[in-house]
Amino acid sequence: MSNKPTILVTGGAGYIGSHVVLALKNFGYEVIVLDNLSYGHPEIVKEVLKVELIVGDTNDRPFLDQLFASREIAAVMHFAAYIAVGESVQKPIEYYRNNVVGTLTLLEAMLQAQVKKFVFSSTCAIYGMPQEIPMTENHPRNPLSPYASSKNMVEQILGDLDLAYGLKSVAFRYFNASGADPSGLLGEDHQPETHLIPLALLTALQKRSSLSIFGTDYETKDGTAIRDYIHVNDLASAHVLGLEYLLNGGQSEVFNLGNGNGFSVREVIETAKQVTQRDIPVIESDRRAGDAPILIGSSAKARNLLGWNPQYPDLNTIVTHAWQWHQRRHGKQ
Ligand code: UDP
Repeated sequence: MSNKPTILVTGGAGYIGSHVVLALKNFGYEVIVLDNLSYGHPEIVKEVLKVELIVGDTNDRPFLDQLFASREIAAVMHFAAYIAVGESVQKPIEYYRNNVVGTLTLLEAMLQAQVKKFVFSSTCAIYGMPQEIPMTENHPRNPLSPYASSKNMVEQILGDLDLAYGLKSVAFRYFNASGADPSGLLGEDHQPETHLIPLALLTALQKRSSLSIFGTDYETKDGTAIRDYIHVNDLASAHVLGLEYLLNGGQSEVFNLGNGNGFSVREVIETAKQVTQRDIPVIESDRRAGDAPILIGSSAKARNLLGWNPQYPDLNTIVTHAWQWHQRRHGKQ
């Protein structure tokens, strides 16, 4: 048994949550994963992470009350959320119920149990179209989808709960989470997949016949959109630092987590071709609604205040790690 406290990780059976659980374990924390398994992968929690998995829903208050009453939990890290921007436009009620109401229910149960430290998985999507690059935490917030609004609403709620009840939180606004643990045992496995890097790799594996490039007429160096891809293990290390900041008595804060480097869609595809040594047929398509031409974040605040130092800023490394996971996931072929 470690003498570090127990951390409840919601959504720990998902992509970012599972990498954070691994980082917490490596730092000696006891971890309980809470996941309703609507999208999560229980075998990853049980067989790879080897931590306790409790199957339940953040909207189930009696269940949460019982959980907090029966366990000594020092802090909650909250990753359980729906994540598809396009789907959120079609199904706003589901998104607000899961991402906002579920989080509010979780926070209420925490306060009832006097658990007052909360690490929240937020998104750079709350900024909307960029007014300046790189974007800092002070960039105006203008969420353009129910998904982004749901994250923004939770950030607002967190501010109010701090004022009213002293709940201390760290919200991390991610840019493009990507890559995988270098072991190849954890990685990105969304159903359906919408993200560029996994789609490029699935095309290289011939699981898909082609990859669409959404927009080739942006005012960027090669006409395709530019994003800030941040390795999921670097996200995970920031979360452990954020947790420790709160456990050491830190005040509520929000932090961007990005790499500070921008890569175009074409650059990502070229990198994926080099890494996989496979062909990736592309179809040049129209822009995707709501996409910004360039999103690059400044993470100076996380570096300065938390001492965060990303280990894998290089796109080639990010794609290589993602490829190792995809090969293992789909059987080396
Ligand atoms: N993209 C693309 N084809 C795809 C998926 C994504 O061209 O099949 C582009 C997308 O328009 C964006 C970038 O790749 O410019 C990253 O998209 P992703 O969905 O991975 O992340 P987002 O930036 O939307 O959070």
